[in-house]
Amino acid sequence: MASSNAIIIGGGHNGLVCAAYLARAGLSVTVLEADHELGGAAKTIEIAPGTKVSGCAHILNQLHPKVVADLQLEEFGLEYAAADMDTVALDSDGKHLVIKGGDAELSGDGITTGDREVWPEFRARLMRFADTLKPILGQTPPRLKSPEGRDSLALAKLGWSVRKLGRDDMREFLRVILINVADLLEDEFEDDRLKGAVALDAVLGTHQGPRSPGSLFSLLYRYAGEALGQQGALALPKGGMGAVTQALAQAAEAEGASIVTGAMVEKILVEDDRVKGVRLATGDELGADCIVSAANPRTTLLGMLGPEHLDTGLVRRLRNIRMQGNAAKLHLALDGVPEFKNLDRLHLDGRLVIAPGIDYVERAFNPSKYGHYSPEPVIELTIPSIADPSLAPAGKHVVSAVVQYAPFELKAGWDEASKAFQEKVIDLIAQYAPHIREQITAAQLLTPADLETKFRLPGGHWHHGELAIDQMLMLRPVPGVAQYATPMPGLYLCSAGSHPGGGVMGAAGMNAAARVIELEGRP
Ligand SMILES: Cc1cc2nc3c(=O)[nH]c(=O)nc-3n(C[C@H](O)[C@H](O)[C@H](O)COP(=O)(O)OP(=O)(O)OC[C@H]3O[C@@H](n4cnc5c(N)ncnc54)[C@H](O)[C@@H]3O)c2cc1C
Repeated sequence: MASSNAIIIGGGHNGLVCAAYLARAGLSVTVLEADHELGGAAKTIEIAPGTKVSGCAHILNQLHPKVVADLQLEEFGLEYAAADMDTVALDSDGKHLVIKGGDAELSGDGITTGDREVWPEFRARLMRFADTLKPILGQTPPRLKSPEGRDSLALAKLGWSVRKLGRDDMREFLRVILINVADLLEDEFEDDRLKGAVALDAVLGTHQGPRSPGSLFSLLYRYAGEALGQQGALALPKGGMGAVTQALAQAAEAEGASIVTGAMVEKILVEDDRVKGVRLATGDELGADCIVSAANPRTTLLGMLGPEHLDTGLVRRLRNIRMQGNAAKLHLALDGVPEFKNLDRLHLDGRLVIAPGIDYVERAFNPSKYGHYSPEPVIELTIPSIADPSLAPAGKHVVSAVVQYAPFELKAGWDEASKAFQEKVIDLIAQYAPHIREQITAAQLLTPADLETKFRLPGGHWHHGELAIDQMLMLRPVPGVAQYATPMPGLYLCSAGSHPGGGVMGAAGMNAAARVIELEGRP
Protein backbone atom coordinates (compact mmCIF):
# COMPACT_ATOMS: atom_id res chain seq x y z
CA MET A 1 0.00 0.00 0.00
CA ALA A 2 1.45 3.40 -1.09
CA SER A 3 1.90 5.70 1.89
CA SER A 4 2.18 9.43 2.78
CA ASN A 5 2.73 11.29 6.01
CA ALA A 6 -0.64 12.94 5.51
CA ILE A 7 -3.70 12.29 3.39
CA ILE A 8 -6.10 15.18 2.90
CA ILE A 9 -9.62 14.05 2.06
CA GLY A 10 -11.19 16.65 -0.25
CA GLY A 11 -9.68 19.21 -2.58
CA GLY A 12 -11.96 22.11 -1.72
CA HIS A 13 -10.15 25.34 -0.88
CA ASN A 14 -9.65 24.40 2.80
CA GLY A 15 -8.15 21.02 1.91
CA LEU A 16 -5.72 22.67 -0.50
CA VAL A 17 -4.69 25.31 2.03
CA CYS A 18 -4.05 22.61 4.62
CA ALA A 19 -2.08 20.56 2.08
CA ALA A 20 0.13 23.51 1.18
CA TYR A 21 1.01 24.30 4.81
CA LEU A 22 1.67 20.65 5.70
CA ALA A 23 3.83 20.11 2.63
CA ARG A 24 5.76 23.26 3.50
CA ALA A 25 6.39 21.79 6.96
CA GLY A 26 8.08 18.85 5.27
CA LEU A 27 5.31 16.24 5.30
CA SER A 28 4.66 14.11 2.24
CA VAL A 29 1.06 15.03 1.45
CA THR A 30 -1.54 13.48 -0.86
CA VAL A 31 -4.85 15.25 -1.53
CA LEU A 32 -7.69 12.93 -2.59
CA GLU A 33 -10.62 14.68 -4.26
CA ALA A 34 -13.72 12.69 -5.20
CA ASP A 35 -14.73 15.00 -8.02
CA HIS A 36 -12.91 15.25 -11.34
CA GLU A 37 -12.26 18.90 -10.63
CA LEU A 38 -10.83 20.60 -7.59
CA GLY A 39 -12.52 23.37 -5.66
CA GLY A 40 -15.66 21.94 -4.06
CA ALA A 41 -17.96 24.91 -3.44
CA ALA A 42 -15.26 27.24 -4.80
CA LYS A 43 -15.02 26.29 -8.45
CA THR A 44 -15.83 27.80 -11.82
CA ILE A 45 -18.30 25.85 -13.94
CA GLU A 46 -19.45 26.10 -17.55
CA ILE A 47 -23.19 26.60 -17.97
CA ALA A 48 -23.27 27.05 -21.76
CA PRO A 49 -20.53 26.76 -24.40
CA GLY A 50 -17.92 29.36 -23.48
CA THR A 51 -20.02 30.79 -20.61
CA LYS A 52 -18.50 30.22 -17.19
CA VAL A 53 -19.54 31.23 -13.70
CA SER A 54 -18.59 30.60 -10.08
CA GLY A 55 -20.55 27.45 -9.18
CA CYS A 56 -21.39 28.27 -5.53
CA ALA A 57 -19.31 31.00 -3.88
CA HIS A 58 -19.10 34.02 -6.20
CA ILE A 59 -17.81 36.97 -4.15
CA LEU A 60 -14.46 36.94 -2.40
CA ASN A 61 -14.69 38.82 0.88
CA GLN A 62 -13.16 36.58 3.50
CA LEU A 63 -10.04 34.90 2.13
CA HIS A 64 -7.65 35.09 5.08
CA PRO A 65 -4.84 37.59 4.38
CA LYS A 66 -2.27 35.27 5.93
CA VAL A 67 -3.24 32.52 3.48
CA VAL A 68 -2.92 34.92 0.54
CA ALA A 69 0.49 36.12 1.73
CA ASP A 70 1.99 32.86 3.05
CA LEU A 71 1.00 30.85 0.00
CA GLN A 72 1.86 33.68 -2.42
CA LEU A 73 -1.41 33.22 -4.24
CA GLU A 74 -0.83 36.21 -6.47
CA GLU A 75 2.43 34.63 -7.66
CA PHE A 76 0.41 31.54 -8.49
CA GLY A 77 -1.96 33.46 -10.70
CA LEU A 78 -4.66 34.89 -8.43
CA GLU A 79 -5.87 38.13 -9.99
CA TYR A 80 -8.90 40.25 -9.29
CA ALA A 81 -11.40 41.37 -11.92
CA ALA A 82 -13.13 43.71 -9.49
CA ALA A 83 -12.09 44.99 -6.09
CA ASP A 84 -13.93 47.08 -3.57
CA MET A 85 -17.27 46.55 -5.30
CA ASP A 86 -20.23 48.83 -4.74
CA THR A 87 -23.52 47.41 -3.50
CA VAL A 88 -26.64 48.59 -5.31
CA ALA A 89 -29.86 48.17 -3.34
CA LEU A 90 -32.28 47.80 -6.22
CA ASP A 91 -35.64 49.49 -6.16
CA SER A 92 -38.45 48.30 -8.45
CA ASP A 93 -39.30 51.91 -9.35
CA GLY A 94 -35.71 52.59 -10.32
CA LYS A 95 -34.88 54.68 -7.23
CA HIS A 96 -31.80 52.66 -6.40
CA LEU A 97 -29.47 53.30 -3.48
CA VAL A 98 -25.75 52.74 -3.89
CA ILE A 99 -23.44 51.87 -1.01
CA LYS A 100 -20.00 52.68 -2.31
CA GLY A 101 -17.23 50.21 -1.59
CA GLY A 102 -14.22 51.55 0.29
CA ASP A 103 -15.37 54.87 1.64
CA ALA A 104 -18.87 53.40 2.17
CA GLU A 105 -20.61 56.60 1.10
CA LEU A 106 -24.31 56.44 0.15
CA SER A 107 -25.77 57.80 -3.06
CA GLY A 108 -29.21 57.81 -4.67
CA ASP A 109 -32.40 59.82 -4.53
CA GLY A 110 -34.36 60.28 -1.36
CA ILE A 111 -31.68 59.44 1.21
CA THR A 112 -32.26 61.54 4.30
CA THR A 113 -29.49 63.76 5.64
CA GLY A 114 -29.66 61.82 8.90
CA ASP A 115 -29.04 58.48 7.18
CA ARG A 116 -26.23 59.95 5.11
CA GLU A 117 -24.51 61.26 8.22
CA VAL A 118 -25.06 58.23 10.44
CA TRP A 119 -24.07 55.54 7.91
CA PRO A 120 -20.25 56.09 7.79
CA GLU A 121 -20.00 56.25 11.58
CA PHE A 122 -22.30 53.22 12.00
CA ARG A 123 -20.31 51.16 9.50
CA ALA A 124 -17.01 52.18 11.05
CA ARG A 125 -18.33 51.14 14.48
CA LEU A 126 -19.40 47.73 13.18
CA MET A 127 -15.99 47.32 11.55
CA ARG A 128 -14.31 48.02 14.90
CA PHE A 129 -16.56 45.43 16.55
CA ALA A 130 -15.80 42.94 13.77
CA ASP A 131 -12.11 43.66 14.22
CA THR A 132 -12.27 42.15 17.72
CA LEU A 133 -13.16 38.79 16.16
CA LYS A 134 -10.24 38.77 13.74
CA PRO A 135 -7.55 37.27 16.01
CA ILE A 136 -9.71 34.27 16.83
CA LEU A 137 -10.35 33.45 13.16
CA GLY A 138 -6.73 32.54 12.55
CA GLN A 139 -6.19 30.20 15.49
CA THR A 140 -7.48 27.01 17.08
CA PRO A 141 -10.48 27.97 19.22
CA PRO A 142 -9.63 27.66 22.91
CA ARG A 143 -11.21 25.05 25.15
CA LEU A 144 -13.15 26.60 28.00
CA LYS A 145 -12.14 24.15 30.72
CA SER A 146 -8.55 23.42 30.00
CA PRO A 147 -5.45 23.15 32.11
CA GLU A 148 -3.32 24.25 29.15
CA GLY A 149 -1.82 27.73 29.18
CA ARG A 150 -2.37 27.94 25.42
CA ASP A 151 -6.17 27.91 25.90
CA SER A 152 -6.09 30.50 28.69
CA LEU A 153 -3.87 32.70 26.56
CA ALA A 154 -6.26 32.49 23.58
CA LEU A 155 -9.23 33.36 25.80
CA ALA A 156 -7.29 36.25 27.29
CA LYS A 157 -6.43 37.51 23.80
CA LEU A 158 -10.11 37.46 22.84
CA GLY A 159 -11.01 39.35 26.03
CA TRP A 160 -8.23 41.83 25.39
CA SER A 161 -9.34 42.53 21.85
CA VAL A 162 -12.82 43.43 23.21
CA ARG A 163 -11.28 45.46 26.06
CA LYS A 164 -9.17 47.38 23.54
CA LEU A 165 -12.35 48.87 22.08
CA GLY A 166 -12.40 51.37 24.94
CA ARG A 167 -15.19 51.89 27.44
CA ASP A 168 -17.95 53.29 25.23
CA ASP A 169 -17.45 50.94 22.31
CA MET A 170 -17.05 47.96 24.60
CA ARG A 171 -20.36 48.73 26.32
CA GLU A 172 -22.09 49.10 22.99
CA PHE A 173 -20.44 45.90 21.68
CA LEU A 174 -21.70 43.92 24.68
CA ARG A 175 -25.16 45.47 24.30
CA VAL A 176 -25.58 44.56 20.66
CA ILE A 177 -23.55 41.39 20.20
CA LEU A 178 -26.44 38.98 20.66
CA ILE A 179 -29.33 41.09 19.42
CA ASN A 180 -30.90 40.88 16.01
CA VAL A 181 -29.73 43.06 13.17
CA ALA A 182 -33.25 44.40 12.52
CA ASP A 183 -33.49 46.08 15.92
CA LEU A 184 -30.17 47.82 15.50
CA LEU A 185 -30.94 49.02 11.98
CA GLU A 186 -34.42 50.24 12.96
CA ASP A 187 -32.82 52.29 15.77
CA GLU A 188 -30.37 53.97 13.44
CA PHE A 189 -31.87 54.41 9.96
CA GLU A 190 -34.98 55.38 8.05
CA ASP A 191 -34.19 54.15 4.54
CA ASP A 192 -35.71 50.75 3.74
CA ARG A 193 -33.31 50.15 0.85
CA LEU A 194 -30.32 50.60 3.12
CA LYS A 195 -31.78 48.57 5.97
CA GLY A 196 -32.78 45.77 3.60
CA ALA A 197 -29.33 45.57 2.01
CA VAL A 198 -27.53 45.41 5.37
CA ALA A 199 -30.07 42.91 6.71
CA LEU A 200 -29.37 40.71 3.70
CA ASP A 201 -25.65 40.71 4.48
CA ALA A 202 -26.44 39.50 7.99
CA VAL A 203 -28.49 36.52 6.82
CA LEU A 204 -26.73 35.38 3.64
CA GLY A 205 -25.97 31.67 3.80
CA THR A 206 -27.82 31.16 7.08
CA HIS A 207 -31.17 29.87 8.28
CA GLN A 208 -31.96 33.21 9.87
CA GLY A 209 -34.11 36.23 9.20
CA PRO A 210 -33.09 39.72 10.25
CA ARG A 211 -35.20 39.36 13.41
CA SER A 212 -33.54 36.09 14.43
CA PRO A 213 -31.42 36.46 17.58
CA GLY A 214 -27.73 36.51 16.77
CA SER A 215 -28.19 37.89 13.25
CA LEU A 216 -26.03 40.88 14.14
CA PHE A 217 -23.24 38.52 15.15
CA SER A 218 -23.45 36.93 11.68
CA LEU A 219 -23.01 40.37 10.16
CA LEU A 220 -19.96 41.09 12.32
CA TYR A 221 -18.47 37.75 11.37
CA ARG A 222 -18.88 38.67 7.73
CA TYR A 223 -17.38 42.13 8.26
CA ALA A 224 -14.36 40.53 9.96
CA GLY A 225 -13.35 39.32 6.51
CA GLU A 226 -11.37 41.33 4.03
CA ALA A 227 -10.41 41.48 0.37
CA LEU A 228 -7.18 42.97 -0.91
CA GLY A 229 -6.34 44.27 2.52
CA GLN A 230 -9.59 46.12 3.02
CA GLN A 231 -11.95 45.03 5.76
CA GLY A 232 -15.54 44.41 4.67
CA ALA A 233 -14.65 44.81 0.98
CA LEU A 234 -15.99 42.63 -1.83
CA ALA A 235 -13.96 41.37 -4.78
CA LEU A 236 -14.32 39.15 -7.84
CA PRO A 237 -11.45 36.82 -8.67
CA LYS A 238 -10.56 36.87 -12.36
CA GLY A 239 -11.74 33.62 -13.90
CA GLY A 240 -14.34 33.04 -11.17
CA MET A 241 -13.90 31.39 -7.79
CA GLY A 242 -12.14 28.44 -9.43
CA ALA A 243 -9.17 30.72 -9.99
CA VAL A 244 -8.64 30.89 -6.20
CA THR A 245 -8.64 27.12 -5.98
CA GLN A 246 -6.32 26.80 -8.97
CA ALA A 247 -3.84 29.18 -7.33
CA LEU A 248 -4.09 27.18 -4.09
CA ALA A 249 -3.52 23.90 -5.94
CA GLN A 250 -0.45 25.32 -7.62
CA ALA A 251 0.85 26.61 -4.30
CA ALA A 252 0.32 23.19 -2.69
CA GLU A 253 2.02 21.39 -5.58
CA ALA A 254 4.93 23.83 -5.49
CA GLU A 255 5.42 22.84 -1.83
CA GLY A 256 5.51 19.19 -2.93
CA ALA A 257 1.93 17.99 -2.32
CA SER A 258 0.41 15.46 -4.74
CA ILE A 259 -3.17 16.00 -5.80
CA VAL A 260 -5.37 13.21 -7.14
CA THR A 261 -8.85 13.93 -8.53
CA GLY A 262 -11.56 11.33 -9.15
CA ALA A 263 -10.48 9.66 -5.88
CA MET A 264 -13.50 9.11 -3.66
CA VAL A 265 -12.60 8.06 -0.13
CA GLU A 266 -15.04 5.47 1.13
CA LYS A 267 -13.50 4.43 4.42
CA ILE A 268 -10.95 5.67 6.91
CA LEU A 269 -8.91 2.63 7.97
CA VAL A 270 -7.98 2.09 11.59
CA GLU A 271 -5.46 -0.23 13.18
CA ASP A 272 -4.49 -0.45 16.85
CA ASP A 273 -6.70 2.52 17.68
CA ARG A 274 -5.05 4.85 15.21
CA VAL A 275 -5.76 5.77 11.60
CA LYS A 276 -3.61 3.88 9.16
CA GLY A 277 -4.97 5.07 5.79
CA VAL A 278 -8.01 5.18 3.55
CA ARG A 279 -9.87 2.91 1.18
CA LEU A 280 -11.13 4.46 -2.04
CA ALA A 281 -14.40 3.66 -3.79
CA THR A 282 -12.29 1.70 -6.30
CA GLY A 283 -11.13 -0.58 -3.47
CA ASP A 284 -7.56 0.75 -3.58
CA GLU A 285 -5.98 1.45 -0.21
CA LEU A 286 -3.50 4.21 0.65
CA GLY A 287 -1.59 4.43 3.89
CA ALA A 288 -0.92 7.56 5.95
CA ASP A 289 0.47 8.55 9.33
CA CYS A 290 -2.34 11.03 9.70
CA ILE A 291 -5.51 12.00 7.85
CA VAL A 292 -7.02 15.45 7.63
CA SER A 293 -10.56 15.51 6.32
CA ALA A 294 -11.60 18.61 4.42
CA ALA A 295 -14.98 16.98 3.79
CA ASN A 296 -17.98 17.60 5.99
CA PRO A 297 -17.38 16.70 9.69
CA ARG A 298 -20.49 14.56 10.02
CA THR A 299 -19.78 12.66 6.79
CA THR A 300 -16.19 12.16 7.91
CA LEU A 301 -16.84 10.91 11.41
CA LEU A 302 -20.11 9.04 11.06
CA GLY A 303 -19.67 7.95 7.43
CA MET A 304 -16.01 7.42 6.60
CA LEU A 305 -14.74 6.60 10.11
CA GLY A 306 -17.89 5.06 11.57
CA PRO A 307 -19.77 5.64 14.85
CA GLU A 308 -18.29 2.44 16.32
CA HIS A 309 -15.05 4.38 16.91
CA LEU A 310 -16.74 7.26 18.77
CA ASP A 311 -18.49 7.63 22.10
CA THR A 312 -22.27 7.86 22.05
CA GLY A 313 -22.35 11.48 23.28
CA LEU A 314 -20.21 12.62 20.37
CA VAL A 315 -22.27 10.58 17.90
CA ARG A 316 -25.44 12.25 19.19
CA ARG A 317 -23.91 15.72 18.95
CA LEU A 318 -22.74 15.06 15.40
CA ARG A 319 -26.19 13.83 14.38
CA ASN A 320 -27.70 16.99 15.85
CA ILE A 321 -25.58 19.53 13.96
CA ARG A 322 -27.99 21.93 12.27
CA MET A 323 -27.16 21.63 8.60
CA GLN A 324 -30.20 22.51 6.53
CA GLY A 325 -29.21 24.83 3.69
CA ASN A 326 -31.57 27.64 2.75
CA ALA A 327 -29.88 29.18 -0.29
CA ALA A 328 -30.08 28.34 -3.99
CA LYS A 329 -27.94 29.57 -6.85
CA LEU A 330 -29.27 30.81 -10.19
CA HIS A 331 -27.05 31.17 -13.25
CA LEU A 332 -28.21 32.83 -16.45
CA ALA A 333 -26.38 33.05 -19.76
CA LEU A 334 -27.47 36.23 -21.55
CA ASP A 335 -27.02 37.31 -25.15
CA GLY A 336 -26.28 40.90 -24.16
CA VAL A 337 -25.82 43.35 -21.29
CA PRO A 338 -28.93 43.36 -19.09
CA GLU A 339 -30.64 46.72 -18.56
CA PHE A 340 -31.84 47.46 -15.06
CA LYS A 341 -34.47 50.22 -14.77
CA ASN A 342 -32.79 53.55 -14.33
CA LEU A 343 -29.43 51.99 -13.41
CA ASP A 344 -26.33 53.35 -15.05
CA ARG A 345 -24.31 50.60 -16.76
CA LEU A 346 -21.33 51.72 -14.69
CA HIS A 347 -22.96 50.04 -11.72
CA LEU A 348 -23.32 46.65 -13.36
CA ASP A 349 -19.87 45.56 -12.21
CA GLY A 350 -21.02 45.90 -8.59
CA ARG A 351 -23.19 43.71 -6.42
CA LEU A 352 -26.92 44.16 -6.98
CA VAL A 353 -29.26 43.16 -4.19
CA ILE A 354 -33.00 42.66 -4.10
CA ALA A 355 -33.91 43.11 -0.46
CA PRO A 356 -36.06 46.24 -0.34
CA GLY A 357 -36.57 46.48 3.41
CA ILE A 358 -36.23 44.53 6.64
CA ASP A 359 -39.84 43.36 6.54
CA TYR A 360 -39.34 42.11 2.99
CA VAL A 361 -36.34 40.03 4.07
CA GLU A 362 -38.14 38.68 7.14
CA ARG A 363 -41.23 37.82 5.05
CA ALA A 364 -38.97 36.04 2.57
CA PHE A 365 -37.55 33.97 5.45
CA ASN A 366 -40.87 33.00 7.05
CA PRO A 367 -42.09 30.30 4.59
CA SER A 368 -38.79 28.45 4.84
CA LYS A 369 -39.49 27.70 8.52
CA TYR A 370 -42.41 25.59 7.33
CA GLY A 371 -40.70 23.90 4.39
CA HIS A 372 -41.75 26.30 1.60
CA TYR A 373 -39.60 28.49 -0.60
CA SER A 374 -40.05 32.27 -0.61
CA PRO A 375 -42.55 33.41 -3.22
CA GLU A 376 -40.62 36.70 -3.18
CA PRO A 377 -37.02 35.78 -2.35
CA VAL A 378 -34.03 37.97 -1.55
CA ILE A 379 -31.25 37.98 -4.11
CA GLU A 380 -27.56 38.85 -4.26
CA LEU A 381 -26.72 39.19 -7.94
CA THR A 382 -23.54 39.80 -9.88
CA ILE A 383 -22.81 39.97 -13.60
CA PRO A 384 -19.17 38.91 -13.36
CA SER A 385 -18.64 38.98 -17.15
CA ILE A 386 -18.88 42.79 -17.07
CA ALA A 387 -15.61 43.09 -15.16
CA ASP A 388 -14.21 39.80 -16.44
CA PRO A 389 -14.92 39.29 -20.16
CA SER A 390 -13.06 35.93 -20.04
CA LEU A 391 -16.22 34.40 -18.57
CA ALA A 392 -18.43 34.70 -21.66
CA PRO A 393 -18.09 34.92 -25.44
CA ALA A 394 -17.78 38.45 -26.84
CA GLY A 395 -20.99 40.42 -26.38
CA LYS A 396 -22.54 37.78 -24.11
CA HIS A 397 -22.90 37.88 -20.35
CA VAL A 398 -23.50 35.70 -17.33
CA VAL A 399 -25.50 36.32 -14.17
CA SER A 400 -24.63 34.70 -10.87
CA ALA A 401 -27.29 35.03 -8.16
CA VAL A 402 -27.61 33.69 -4.63
CA VAL A 403 -31.30 33.28 -3.90
CA GLN A 404 -32.86 32.89 -0.47
CA TYR A 405 -34.86 31.36 0.99
CA ALA A 406 -34.96 27.87 -0.45
CA PRO A 407 -35.07 25.26 2.32
CA PHE A 408 -33.28 21.96 1.77
CA GLU A 409 -36.24 20.03 3.11
CA LEU A 410 -38.86 21.47 0.81
CA LYS A 411 -42.34 20.06 1.45
CA ALA A 412 -43.13 19.90 -2.26
CA GLY A 413 -39.77 18.24 -3.02
CA TRP A 414 -37.17 19.95 -5.20
CA ASP A 415 -37.69 17.60 -8.16
CA GLU A 416 -41.23 18.93 -8.41
CA ALA A 417 -40.64 22.54 -7.43
CA SER A 418 -37.32 23.49 -8.96
CA LYS A 419 -38.65 24.73 -12.31
CA ALA A 420 -41.45 26.79 -10.71
CA PHE A 421 -39.00 28.39 -8.28
CA GLN A 422 -36.59 29.21 -11.10
CA GLU A 423 -39.40 30.94 -13.01
CA LYS A 424 -40.43 32.91 -9.92
CA VAL A 425 -36.87 34.10 -9.40
CA ILE A 426 -36.52 35.17 -13.03
CA ASP A 427 -39.89 36.96 -12.82
CA LEU A 428 -38.67 38.80 -9.76
CA ILE A 429 -35.43 39.87 -11.44
CA ALA A 430 -37.53 41.01 -14.43
CA GLN A 431 -39.35 43.48 -12.16
CA TYR A 432 -36.00 45.29 -12.00
CA ALA A 433 -34.61 44.36 -15.43
CA PRO A 434 -37.76 44.13 -17.58
CA HIS A 435 -36.18 42.66 -20.74
CA ILE A 436 -33.96 40.09 -19.10
CA ARG A 437 -36.16 37.13 -20.01
CA GLU A 438 -35.73 37.81 -23.73
CA GLN A 439 -31.94 37.82 -23.26
CA ILE A 440 -31.66 34.42 -21.54
CA THR A 441 -30.00 31.72 -23.64
CA ALA A 442 -29.44 29.23 -20.81
CA ALA A 443 -30.52 29.02 -17.19
CA GLN A 444 -29.43 26.81 -14.32
CA LEU A 445 -30.90 26.69 -10.85
CA LEU A 446 -28.91 24.84 -8.20
CA THR A 447 -31.29 24.02 -5.38
CA PRO A 448 -29.98 22.93 -1.96
CA ALA A 449 -30.70 19.35 -3.09
CA ASP A 450 -28.44 19.90 -6.13
CA LEU A 451 -25.79 21.47 -3.89
CA GLU A 452 -25.79 18.30 -1.82
CA THR A 453 -25.54 15.90 -4.76
CA LYS A 454 -23.38 17.91 -7.16
CA PHE A 455 -21.07 19.65 -4.66
CA ARG A 456 -21.14 17.13 -1.78
CA LEU A 457 -22.48 19.74 0.63
CA PRO A 458 -24.67 17.76 3.07
CA GLY A 459 -28.03 19.47 3.51
CA GLY A 460 -26.93 21.79 0.71
CA HIS A 461 -25.41 23.90 3.46
CA TRP A 462 -23.12 26.78 2.52
CA HIS A 463 -21.03 26.44 5.73
CA HIS A 464 -21.08 22.63 6.21
CA GLY A 465 -23.25 23.36 9.26
CA GLU A 466 -25.24 26.41 10.34
CA LEU A 467 -22.96 29.27 11.37
CA ALA A 468 -24.84 30.44 14.43
CA ILE A 469 -23.68 31.34 17.90
CA ASP A 470 -24.36 27.82 19.28
CA GLN A 471 -22.27 26.24 16.50
CA MET A 472 -19.31 28.63 16.50
CA LEU A 473 -15.85 28.86 18.02
CA MET A 474 -15.27 26.09 20.55
CA LEU A 475 -18.70 24.66 19.72
CA ARG A 476 -17.90 24.08 16.03
CA PRO A 477 -18.72 21.57 14.65
CA VAL A 478 -19.41 20.14 18.14
CA PRO A 479 -17.53 20.05 21.43
CA GLY A 480 -15.05 17.21 21.47
CA VAL A 481 -13.78 17.86 17.93
CA ALA A 482 -13.71 21.66 17.89
CA GLN A 483 -9.92 21.93 18.01
CA TYR A 484 -9.48 20.09 14.66
CA ALA A 485 -8.17 16.90 16.33
CA THR A 486 -10.70 14.10 16.80
CA PRO A 487 -10.80 11.35 19.45
CA MET A 488 -9.37 8.98 16.83
CA PRO A 489 -5.60 9.47 17.03
CA GLY A 490 -4.22 10.76 13.74
CA LEU A 491 -7.58 11.99 12.37
CA TYR A 492 -8.22 15.73 11.98
CA LEU A 493 -10.95 17.93 10.50
CA CYS A 494 -10.41 21.06 8.39
CA SER A 495 -13.51 21.97 6.35
CA ALA A 496 -15.81 24.94 6.72
CA GLY A 497 -17.67 22.73 9.21
CA SER A 498 -14.85 23.46 11.65
CA HIS A 499 -13.90 26.82 13.17
CA PRO A 500 -14.10 29.52 11.85
CA GLY A 501 -16.70 28.27 9.39
CA GLY A 502 -17.54 28.79 5.78
CA GLY A 503 -16.99 31.31 3.12
CA VAL A 504 -13.89 31.09 0.98
CA MET A 505 -11.64 31.90 3.90
CA GLY A 506 -9.04 29.13 4.10
CA ALA A 507 -8.68 29.69 7.83
CA ALA A 508 -9.95 26.24 8.81
CA GLY A 509 -7.34 24.65 6.53
CA MET A 510 -4.60 26.92 7.85
CA ASN A 511 -5.46 26.44 11.54
CA ALA A 512 -5.86 22.69 11.17
CA ALA A 513 -2.43 22.40 9.55
CA ALA A 514 -0.88 24.20 12.53
CA ARG A 515 -2.68 21.83 14.89
CA VAL A 516 -1.49 18.75 12.97
CA ILE A 517 2.10 19.98 13.11
CA GLU A 518 1.73 20.77 16.83
CA LEU A 519 0.35 17.33 17.72
CA GLU A 520 2.04 15.06 15.19
CA GLY A 521 5.36 16.87 14.89
CA ARG A 522 7.40 17.34 11.76
CA PRO A 523 8.92 14.31 10.02
C1 LIG B 1 -24.87 28.85 -3.03
C2 LIG B 1 -23.62 29.22 -2.28
C3 LIG B 1 -23.12 30.50 -2.39
C4 LIG B 1 -21.97 30.86 -1.69
N1 LIG B 1 -21.47 32.13 -1.84
C5 LIG B 1 -20.33 32.46 -1.22
C6 LIG B 1 -19.70 33.70 -1.52
O1 LIG B 1 -20.17 34.48 -2.34
N2 LIG B 1 -18.54 33.98 -0.88
C7 LIG B 1 -17.95 33.10 -0.01
O2 LIG B 1 -16.87 33.40 0.52
N3 LIG B 1 -18.52 31.91 0.27
C8 LIG B 1 -19.68 31.56 -0.34
N4 LIG B 1 -20.21 30.33 -0.13
C9 LIG B 1 -19.58 29.43 0.86
C10 LIG B 1 -18.34 28.70 0.36
O3 LIG B 1 -18.51 28.29 -0.98
C11 LIG B 1 -18.05 27.47 1.21
O4 LIG B 1 -18.22 27.73 2.58
C12 LIG B 1 -16.62 27.00 1.02
O5 LIG B 1 -16.32 26.91 -0.36
C13 LIG B 1 -16.41 25.64 1.69
O6 LIG B 1 -15.08 25.23 1.43
P1 LIG B 1 -14.45 23.89 2.04
O7 LIG B 1 -13.13 23.74 1.39
O8 LIG B 1 -14.50 23.92 3.50
O9 LIG B 1 -15.44 22.74 1.60
P2 LIG B 1 -15.88 22.26 0.15
O10 LIG B 1 -15.69 23.34 -0.83
O11 LIG B 1 -17.23 21.67 0.28
O12 LIG B 1 -14.82 21.12 -0.20
C14 LIG B 1 -14.94 19.80 0.28
C15 LIG B 1 -14.37 18.90 -0.80
O13 LIG B 1 -14.32 17.56 -0.31
C16 LIG B 1 -14.69 16.70 -1.37
N5 LIG B 1 -15.15 15.43 -0.79
C17 LIG B 1 -16.25 15.22 -0.04
N6 LIG B 1 -16.34 13.93 0.30
C18 LIG B 1 -15.25 13.32 -0.22
C19 LIG B 1 -14.78 11.97 -0.20
N7 LIG B 1 -15.45 11.01 0.42
N8 LIG B 1 -13.61 11.68 -0.84
C20 LIG B 1 -12.90 12.68 -1.48
N9 LIG B 1 -13.33 13.95 -1.54
C21 LIG B 1 -14.49 14.27 -0.91
C22 LIG B 1 -15.77 17.46 -2.10
O14 LIG B 1 -15.97 16.96 -3.42
C23 LIG B 1 -15.22 18.89 -2.07
O15 LIG B 1 -14.41 19.15 -3.17
C24 LIG B 1 -21.33 29.92 -0.85
C25 LIG B 1 -21.83 28.63 -0.75
C26 LIG B 1 -22.96 28.27 -1.46
C27 LIG B 1 -23.47 26.86 -1.36
